[in-house]
Amino acid sequence: MFIHAKKKLIGLGSVLFFILAMPHYGSTDGAIPTVRVKVFHDVSTLHIEGRDIQLVDTYRNLYIFRNPGISYIIISAASNGIMVNKAVYPARMVTLIFSGGAVRINGTLLRGHLEIAHTDNSHLIVVNEINLESYVAGLVNAEMPHNWPLEALEAQAVVARTYALWQKSRHLDQYFDMENGVMDQVYAGADSEDSKGWEAVNATRGQIITYGGKPILAMYHSICGGETENSEDAIGYKYPYLRAVKCDFCRIAPGFNWKYTVGFKSLADRLITKGYTLSEVYGFKILKRSRTQRVMTARVITNRGNIDLDGVTLRGVLGYDKLRSTLFWIQVKNNKIFFSGRGFGHGVGMCQWGAYGMAKKGYNYRQIIHYYYKQVHIERFY
Ligand SMILES: [Zn+2]
Repeated sequence: MFIHAKKKLIGLGSVLFFILAMPHYGSTDGAIPTVRVKVFHDVSTLHIEGRDIQLVDTYRNLYIFRNPGISYIIISAASNGIMVNKAVYPARMVTLIFSGGAVRINGTLLRGHLEIAHTDNSHLIVVNEINLESYVAGLVNAEMPHNWPLEALEAQAVVARTYALWQKSRHLDQYFDMENGVMDQVYAGADSEDSKGWEAVNATRGQIITYGGKPILAMYHSICGGETENSEDAIGYKYPYLRAVKCDFCRIAPGFNWKYTVGFKSLADRLITKGYTLSEVYGFKILKRSRTQRVMTARVITNRGNIDLDGVTLRGVLGYDKLRSTLFWIQVKNNKIFFSGRGFGHGVGMCQWGAYGMAKKGYNYRQIIHYYYKQVHIERFY
């Protein structure tokens, strides 16, 4: 296996098996599961600051670099390996070892086990293996303002922990469990841990949401806009616990109502950028709504025929922060589309501003969770 791995140091997939067999240098509590988060993706250069930095060739388990004391190093991808402070080492992946418990990479403070891998001649990725409780502490404050009521933060901690375990169970064949960003959860590193985040994590330590004894797909979003969405209408798959529920609790959210206007010309330009064939837009209408009134299909009438887009694709074309949800109504006049809508995000699962509103009204984190996820249990997983 060793020789085979040395000869085939190409894609990450081929080396995964080997990595799993490698010793881990970071300290982890055996009782707490770890998650692997891709913290940097396709970067060309990494600026690393830390104490007693050492780099180990992950495949060959050989030290290639040591720098005692406080150090600052620059790593970049090279055609035949990894360049560390201008010296090229023939390694496709290195494990970063440091003392002091944390290291800063491109400005982000990170703890735990870190691997840097060469993806091509000019790009690197960084994968951080971290214990789940630290990961959730970092997430809670990235996902919710720290001045929110503790019960809302506790609900977010249980939801984030559950989501992470669900992702982990799905990605067993991948090099990492979690992307980092809006597609998964937003992990901002150890900088975003604070005492209130840890308080919410510790108060709910190890607790997850289950259905049939397994972690649920604990989807969540910012503002539902009055009613959450049935999973089948948003992601095409019916989960018994992701049912539409009325939610008035998020009405206090800034941005509960929104407006957005786009001209036909601008819509045409954006569609062309996304690869659609047209030169002019003549009209726009809504073809289909879900039971909660979210737009499932919209039609753009163009000089090259009709383009039917599902609501999520339309949000991608116009920008997720412009068309803030698919819960909108339109007026078309003077070659412009006037959108007026409610909510922010996909609308499935827990409404974060709704959790805030519930906590303000005195509901506890268990009541918040049971409100947004149906027929579930809250169980201690470890
Ligand atoms: Zn809501």
